[in-house]
Amino acid sequence: MIAIIVHGGAGKANSKEEIPGRIETCKYAAKTGFKILKNSGSAIDAAVEAVKIFEDDSFFNAGKGTYLNKKGEVELDSGIMDGESLKSGAASGVKHVKNPILLAKMIMEKSPHRFLISEGAEEFAMRNQLEIVPNSYFITKEKREIYLKKLNKIQESDTVGAVALDKKGRIASAVSTGGTPFKEEGRVGDSPIIGSGFFANDIYGAVATGIGEDIMKAVLSFRINLYIGKGIEYAVEQTISDLTKLNGKAGIIALDKQGNMAYKYNTEMMFYGFMKEGMKEPEGGI
Ligand code: ASP
Repeated sequence: MIAIIVHGGAGKANSKEEIPGRIETCKYAAKTGFKILKNSGSAIDAAVEAVKIFEDDSFFNAGKGTYLNKKGEVELDSGIMDGESLKSGAASGVKHVKNPILLAKMIMEKSPHRFLISEGAEEFAMRNQLEIVPNSYFITKEKREIYLKKLNKIQESDTVGAVALDKKGRIASAVSTGGTPFKEEGRVGDSPIIGSGFFANDIYGAVATGIGEDIMKAVLSFRINLYIGKGIEYAVEQTISDLTKLNGKAGIIALDKQGNMAYKYNTEMMFYGFMKEGMKEPEGGI
């Protein structure tokens, strides 16, 4: 069985007009990852390619189009985990790496460490020939206007993520974000934190989105472990129910080793897309 599920963030859309386009991008990201899996590619490569599509699309809060922090700059976080080896890679506070998900993958594969931040992460990216761009590359007119209104639009963050299962039964989870709008410089959310923003092992993989400070309270992506014995759908349901009891707002996507997928959120909406063996076209929604 091969399968992939992606999300384009929990919260609410900046405008209703954006919704169909965003759902289409979720479907396209799922389809792109699925093609890789179909051609015997790895779950890691499928999840990375799906996330990269969102990073290059300026409507999502990852890569180009990220929300600005209080200083008017973009700071990016990313994370990835290979459920087979339990190796992970994460980066935070990055300002010039065009595709932070590629940096997370490179940290996982080429560094003896699991998490690099700020200048050190960027130096590592440069040494490994990742594309470097000026901070202004990430800043779109729309996100600049939001910044100028000084709005901490915490409900409208659109982090992106993907979980994939390949032909060899390996699961991978990948996440990329610009964090919450108008955040303090140096703020790190859940996304690059293993167990909170993302997790994968040989049973399931998950990626969270929403208010990072809430997600960390519940250690959301790892929390699924508490309930996985009763199936992925039940586990995801319970996980979000626990979060609600903690007054947290977030969403999560998850996938198990049989290719069963689940998603759940307690925010107004969450953009998602998925595709698995037997489906001719991807499905998506909010
Ligand atoms: N979880 C992300 C953060 O708090 C934001 C998001 O999911 O949109 O950094």
